[in-house]
Amino acid sequence: MSKAKAYSAASATSPLAFTTIERRDPTDTDVAIEILFCGVCHSDLHQVRNEWSGVMPTVYPCIPGHEILGRVTKVGSAVTKFKAGDIAAVGCLVDSDGSCPACKAGEEQFCPNPTLTYNFPDKHLGGVTYGGYSESVVVDERFVLRVPENLDPAGAAPLLCAGITTYSPLHHWGVTKGQKVGIVGLGGLGHMGVKFAHALGAHTVVFTTSPNKVEDAKRLGADEVVISKDAKEMAKHAFSFDFILDAVSADHDINAYLPLLGRDSHMVLVGAPEKPMAISSFNLILGRKSLSGSMIGGIKETQEMLDFCGEHNITSDVEVIPIQKINEAYERLIKSDVKYRFSIDMASLKSE
Ligand code: NAP
Ligand code: ZN
Repeated sequence: MSKAKAYSAASATSPLAFTTIERRDPTDTDVAIEILFCGVCHSDLHQVRNEWSGVMPTVYPCIPGHEILGRVTKVGSAVTKFKAGDIAAVGCLVDSDGSCPACKAGEEQFCPNPTLTYNFPDKHLGGVTYGGYSESVVVDERFVLRVPENLDPAGAAPLLCAGITTYSPLHHWGVTKGQKVGIVGLGGLGHMGVKFAHALGAHTVVFTTSPNKVEDAKRLGADEVVISKDAKEMAKHAFSFDFILDAVSADHDINAYLPLLGRDSHMVLVGAPEKPMAISSFNLILGRKSLSGSMIGGIKETQEMLDFCGEHNITSDVEVIPIQKINEAYERLIKSDVKYRFSIDMASLKSE
């Protein structure tokens, strides 16, 4: 085992603070990675503050981080895809049973026995898994991704969650050129949704509560931007969308969006607010509309997404921060004040 510097939360109300953790020695199939950048997902904040206590209660100390990009330092004897010195990445998953129908279909995110990157039982060391707010991680090579060399590492790290979580539903529901696609919430996930919908050739409309994001939304690829609090503007889009992706982190009324869908169209939730939502059934039955959810993506699809980003030169727009600013960054996430993903420069851990 080796020691690694990290930042952890001791309770739902504690700020994140410096700590030291153990990482396992690589097994034959493991890849050891020195972490260079780790994106800050709103899920990290939900988990640290135990906002998902009903579904995934938090075990403390909690070390979040599942948008991990780093350099391979060591590989096990059976590892074939990576060697020391390679740039490699890890997302939300570090293991699954490999034998269930979901795993066989390449959709490990829906395995009934997955191991998420943090806050899940750790089969190797006991306790729970520790995430990427740390200087190193050891992961089975099946869950380690290749990052195209042309991508900026700080901006590529968030692709491992914000990227795949928005790429996957656009593909699953077959978004194509010429369709009208709405993205609700211009945060970390939303801004990646805009980039992907635009790259797929969709007529992309951003719904935001933040008037100061209108110009950015257009720069990121939006054809139109609607301030979602403006009922008149919203009404102009009634019954016109082929697909709407909702990436909002907090309570909001999705009944404002369902009437904007066209006949037989889909609204997909990727945002995971703390509280349940109310839905008027009329908003679905009038037009035979569907409301669905989607969670990250499988490993094969994550690699496809990274390769797509390499071809189209797509990365996240990041504000790089030292780990010492993480608590401030969380407060800014709550205020929707992130443009558009925080990416932690892990070199900042060296001074601890
Ligand atoms: P984020 O960067 O904080 O962005 C969330 C955005 O939601 C904000 O920028 C804001 O956009 C909008 N928003 C915030 N509060 C709002 C409110 N009260 N009413 C309406 N809009 C509001 O968060 P993120 O990292 O993108 O994550 C978004 C959500 O997705 C989180 O709940 C996260 O846990 C979840 N998530 C799910 C998956 C999955 O697999 N399904 C994966 C990753 C994350 P505007 O300023 O434009 O309004
Ligand atoms: Zn995430």
